[in-house]
Amino acid sequence: MIRGTTLFICTKCKKVFLAPDIEYGAMVYSVPMPCKRCGSRRTLPVLQLPYYAVYKKIWKTME
Ligand SMILES: [Zn+2]
Repeated sequence: MIRGTTLFICTKCKKVFLAPDIEYGAMVYSVPMPCKRCGSRRTLPVLQLPYYAVYKKIWKTME
């Protein structure tokens, strides 16, 4: 389910970019969107930075 757009930050190159906010597995987390600068999928919404540890697991399942 798409919840609109949100600001993502790339953990590789630190780029901040606007991308669709898609619900990840019916949870509060968002599907990591590919970085618009370096293409990395290791991204997360800026507002969800406190959940970095959760996103590390999500990135692993996507790779
Ligand atoms: Zn990047």
